[in-house]
This record gives sequence, structure tokens and C-alpha cells, in this order.
Amino acid sequence: MTTSSNLGFPRIGPNRELKKALESYWAGRIGPAELESAAAELRKRNWLLQRDAGLHRVPSNDFSYYDHVLDTCAMVGAVPERYGWGGGPVDLATYFAMARGTQGGHGARDVVAMEMTKWFDTNYHYIVPELRAGQTFTLASTKPLDEFTEAFELGIQTRPVLLGPVSFLLLSKSRDTGAPPLDLLDGLLPVYQEILTRLGKAGASWVQMDEPCLVGDLDSAARAAYERAYRQLRDASSSTDLKLLLTTYFGEVTQNLDTITALPVDGLHVDLVRGADQLDAVMERLPDQVILSAGVVDGRNVWVTDLKRTLDCLQRIESRLGTERLIVAPSCSMIHVPIDLDLEERLDAEVREWLAFATQKLDEIVTLTRCLGDDSGAVAELLEKNRARLESRGTSSRVHRQEVKDRAASLRDEDFHRDSPFPARRLLQQQKFELPVFPTTTIGSFPQTAEVRAKRAAFRNGKINREEYERFLEQEIERIIRFQEEIGLDVLVHGEPERNDMVQYFGEQLTGIAFTERGWVQSYGSRYVRPPIIYGDVDRPEPMTVRWSTYAASVTQKPIKAMLTGPITILQWSFVRDDQARRETARQIALAIRQEICDLESAGIGVVQIDEPALREGLPLRRQDWPEYLKWAVECFRLASSGVRDDTQIHTHMCYSEFNDIIEAIGEMDADVISIESSRSQMELLDTFSSYHYPNEIGLGVYDIHSPRIPSTDEMRALIAKATEHLAPDQIWVNPDCGLKTRGWEEVRPALRNMVAAARAVRSELARVG
Ligand code: GLN
Ligand code: ZN
Repeated sequence: MTTSSNLGFPRIGPNRELKKALESYWAGRIGPAELESAAAELRKRNWLLQRDAGLHRVPSNDFSYYDHVLDTCAMVGAVPERYGWGGGPVDLATYFAMARGTQGGHGARDVVAMEMTKWFDTNYHYIVPELRAGQTFTLASTKPLDEFTEAFELGIQTRPVLLGPVSFLLLSKSRDTGAPPLDLLDGLLPVYQEILTRLGKAGASWVQMDEPCLVGDLDSAARAAYERAYRQLRDASSSTDLKLLLTTYFGEVTQNLDTITALPVDGLHVDLVRGADQLDAVMERLPDQVILSAGVVDGRNVWVTDLKRTLDCLQRIESRLGTERLIVAPSCSMIHVPIDLDLEERLDAEVREWLAFATQKLDEIVTLTRCLGDDSGAVAELLEKNRARLESRGTSSRVHRQEVKDRAASLRDEDFHRDSPFPARRLLQQQKFELPVFPTTTIGSFPQTAEVRAKRAAFRNGKINREEYERFLEQEIERIIRFQEEIGLDVLVHGEPERNDMVQYFGEQLTGIAFTERGWVQSYGSRYVRPPIIYGDVDRPEPMTVRWSTYAASVTQKPIKAMLTGPITILQWSFVRDDQARRETARQIALAIRQEICDLESAGIGVVQIDEPALREGLPLRRQDWPEYLKWAVECFRLASSGVRDDTQIHTHMCYSEFNDIIEAIGEMDADVISIESSRSQMELLDTFSSYHYPNEIGLGVYDIHSPRIPSTDEMRALIAKATEHLAPDQIWVNPDCGLKTRGWEEVRPALRNMVAAARAVRSELARVG
């Protein structure tokens, strides 16, 4: 009989139980025992839920207090020196210090957290393992074993999940050594051998070894590492008869099949959603005894699976490999999707029919598995129901709007270009705004104080009426404007007090986008997000921001910069429809943003910023696919921004990633001004400009808004001076790294004052030498 399985279930709990427990623990309201029992409760719930759904292989060790890569660091004892870990099991205090840092007081030391970055092309962030020269490894956490035993005692035989040793190293960074982390493999393998041996002895029959790096481009060192690693792990597992499932996801492995098929593993999991085309090559090359785990239910998105089509695919595998060699699985761990559609009470009834969250996906997997060996009437009925749901999605007028499709189809080349090239626009903009050199501005948001959030909640819950709420917002905007005038900023913003979130605020005003009430997905640690669901053609029925930007303009003589979230960022931070290419959806959003910008211009707003912080994270995993993505992403930005006159100044903003390798594409976006985060890396980005001449104006953040520290005038002056070594003075803007919404006024006030003072100091220096 064919086996059904899961690769990982969301760990956060249907009511965000994990967040609540963690935050209570960090605040000292509960102790470690209570935290641990809340976690055990969640694990139990997930195991029982999956078993009761009828799943044959239920994962364990997919739970994590914070992040599974951090768990792996703890497992192998890769604790950086600054945490003062003295060996032995890694305790909770050390674990959370690594995740979040610790801040003085109570005799605790001041240590910074480990670096965090995006998990492949998802919006989940992992902790980057930090390895040093001479790093040694030891089994410092038996979490995989403990959780296996915990489930075992509940009567559930689980399949533990481990992040494989090679991906672990490939995702690591080495500190104070130029040597690649892979050089440390030989020291790491014994720890993996030990945990595998112990899992085998404890009664595990299979272990899921996650090696997602196998979907990328591997150099010869990585290939050799895979061969060495799995040969050695085989020795450990064969002594206890433990089987290894080599698990890949987020793309195809075709390019690495030579390496993969030479590895002594018992099963291979491939992602047949992202990498549907790889199936034939994989079946062709799969060694005889190896089992294929077919990732057919999308673990990255929320749409109902096409059962008929998937069943056809599974039957093809079955007839080629045999029933016993097939496992039905989700494409990847389900931590990337919300837990349960049934928790949604207000979701539109029609849209709901098209969706499946993690709990529903379990049912799909079990159903598919059952259908394989069954051609009774019951199956036919099931398939028929599924077909009806897909058809309703395929034909609904909520999804398909002819006028939107027509608009996107009738675009001409000139819609992607401003009227004149940058030098001509710049002249007009200089005449219009008369800004000084090193003009100062901010990225958009100002502190979202408790009062701002309370008023928004009160309005949402009907405790205050629209009029009262809007009056409050106007007062808040005026206060923010007065402050900016007082400290002498050059281009002002309204401060975004009306926005809950930079994507949600726009999504709620566009057609074709739905929002959940409880559809939380882990972004990092205890931070969860509710991604919008883009289900249909996107249109903008009415202006979205004009009211607030024009109000701001009405209370000042200075230029106001309006803020919009860009099409790629809206796309990237949402669940995107899978019935058309992403670029098509992005284009529709770009057109909606373009209309908004044109309305802003007509309403007298002269400066508009389109935020694209997620542009880089949309990059495909393989470099060969980058040019195509960058081409359409840049096109979308240009489409959004090119509907305006030459004297309207378009800004863009990006943050939280490294831009060096996409800087040319950024140049092609042809924004008049770009602001980029850079103060944390001490303007590392500047090096790029020695080989690439950035053509337009640019503001490299001089104030790190992620830290409560207040930067001094002198240090920001030094950063601006550094920028002048690589860029022309009349190219440079002065601004913080990002929006100020997470900071308090007591930090923002002095920091921005210092920033303006720094710009003035550099201006007068320039006047002196010039
Ligand atoms: N305009 C947004 C803000 O200032 C930009 C946020 C971001 O880049 N993530 O908050
Ligand atoms: Zn930003």
C-alpha cells in the first residue's frame, strides 16, 4: 500500500499559543516549566491531529521554540563564544540569547543576537549558524531524540526531521576565517552519526534529512561533501537499520541528480509543485531500491489541490516504480501556510471554497493516498466535488475581470518609460523643489505609538466612528509635519499613522485580494504575519492614499513625499494565485499603483516613493533564472512609476538585503531617487559604486533604525563623507535606513535632529572647499 506523509506541521498553534507562551516567558511572567509544558501541548496536538487525519508518517522535531536552524546549532554545539556557553546541554537561556541577544541589567551581559536571514525564497527567517576557525562540534541537545520519545510514549511512531549536515554548513557563515564552512564537515559528521544511532536505538525507522540546498547550484566541493557525508551517515544508520529520506524542496534537483543518485539513502523526496518538470528525470535515474516521496500538495501556497491531475501524476509514478516505492507528501514543510481554514469566520464564502490550509492539506494527502488503490464510486464522487470547486474558481467573476485583463494586455512600450531621461527630469525637479545639496528626508513611517494603535483598534471595533478616527489621524499627521519642519527636514512625509501594515493597507483597498483573521504564518521567532491572499484580478476601485498625502500637503509649504508599497513587495508578501504567471499578477498590481500615483500627481503631490523592500528576496534560487525575474520585476516598477510628468520625483526604497549583485537592475528601475539601507554594514554597498556608476540620486541610510541607539551627528557626518568618496555630492541624499514605525519618539527626535545637523555640516564643508 502507498504511504501518506507530512514533512512538517506549523508549530505556532491555532491560537498563536507558542507566541503567547514565549512572550510570557521572556517577560518573566512564566517560568521554564510552564513554557515547556505549553510546547509539549502543542506538539501533542499536532501529532494527534496528523495521526487522526489518517497520515502514515507523522514528523517529529519539526517543532521549534524559535527556529529549526538555531535548533541545529544547539544540537551540534555550534554556540558562538560571546554567549559564554561552557559546554553541556544548551539551556533555554543560551538558546534565546543566541536568537535575540540579551540586554544588560540584572547582571546579564550585553550580547547581540546571531544574524537572521530569509530561508531560501520564503518569508521565513532562520538564524545563520556562525562558525569559527577551529570550530568543534558535540552533541549538545538531544531535542530530536527527546521529541521522538515523547511522541512514542503517546503511541505515535514519528519520523524525526533533521536539517542535513551539508545544508547546515552551506547555510552557515564562518567568522574570523576565510575558510568555507564546508571545511568543517569532518568534525560535524560524528555528531550526526551519534544522533542517528541514538534515534535508531530508540526505535525510529526513518529519519527525514532535509537537504534543501540540493535544489540550488552546487560546486564541486559541495558535491564532494554530499558524497562524503552520506557515506558516513550510512555507516551509522545501518548499524540500527535506520532509513534515511533525503529531502529536497523549493525547486528541481535535475542539475544535481548525478550527485543525488550516488548517495546511499533509502528514499528521496522531491518537490513536484515547484519542480513538476523533474519527475521523469528523477524516475529515470532513481536507483532501484530507493523510495520516492512525491511532494504533490503545495506546502507554500493555500489553493485547493487539483486531485484529478495529481492523481494522474501519482498513478504514473506508481505504475513505474510500484506501490511500495511511493510516498504521498506535501511539497515541503507546511510551516509556510496557515493552520486551519475552519478557524476563519469572516472569509468570503466563495473564496473559501478554493482554499486549503495545513489541516485541509493533510486531508488532501490522505485522500490522494486512498484514491490510489481505489476506483469505487466514493472516489469518483470526491473527485467530482473537487472538480466543481476548481471550476468555480476558474470561472468566477470574482477572479476574472475582463477590464483588468484588457488593460494589462493593451500596454505599449512607452508605458514603461518616463517621458525624458533622468538628466532632463532632474533639471526640472531641481527648478521645482529647489532642494539644497545632501537633501534630507525619511522613509515614511513615524513612531506607531500605543495611542495610534489604540485608536485604530477602537475604530475597527466600532468604538469610535470614522469621523473621530480621521480627525485623530489629521492631528497626528499635523504633529508629524510640524516636527519635521521644526528640525529642518527638506522633503516631508505624512508619517503613515493610518497604516496597519505596508501590504495589508493596500491589499484591503484592492479587488482580488482576501484577508484572513487567523491565518498566521511564522515570519521569525515569535513574529507571525497574516499574508494576504491574491485570488483574482487586481483592480483599484478608488484612491488609497490621496486623502492623507493631500492633507499633509495642506498644512505645510514644504514638498510632501507620498508613500506607496510597490507591486513586487505586495506580491512577495502574499499568497499569490497559481492560475496565472506571477508576472501577470505583478503587472496588474503595478497598474493599480500607477493609477494611484497619477491621482496623487493630479492632487498636487510632487514626490512619490514606491517601496520595494522585497525586490531582492523574489530572486529565484538559481542564478540562471535571475535575469528573467529581474527583467519583469524592473518592468513592473517602471510601469507603476512612468505615468507621471517629468517634474514629479519618483523615489524608491529597499532594505534588509544585500544589493551588490542586483545593483544594475536597480539602476534600470530608473527611479529619480533611491534610498537603501546601509548603515549597519558601514556602507559596504559603496564598494559597488567603484565599479558601477549609479546614474540617478541615492540616499544610503545613515541611521540604523533597528537599534534603539541614537547615532551622533559626527558618526552620521562621517558616513555621508564616506559616501562622497564614491558618489558625486549632488547625487547624495541623507536619510535613515528604513521607516521609523518601530521606534519611540524619544529616540526618533534626537536621532533625526542629529541627522539634519550632519547633513548641514557636510553642506557647509562642501561650500568651504568648493
Ligand atoms: N515606507 C515604509 C515605512 O517607512 C517602508 C517600510 C519598509 O521598507 N519595510 O515604514
Ligand atoms: Zn525599509
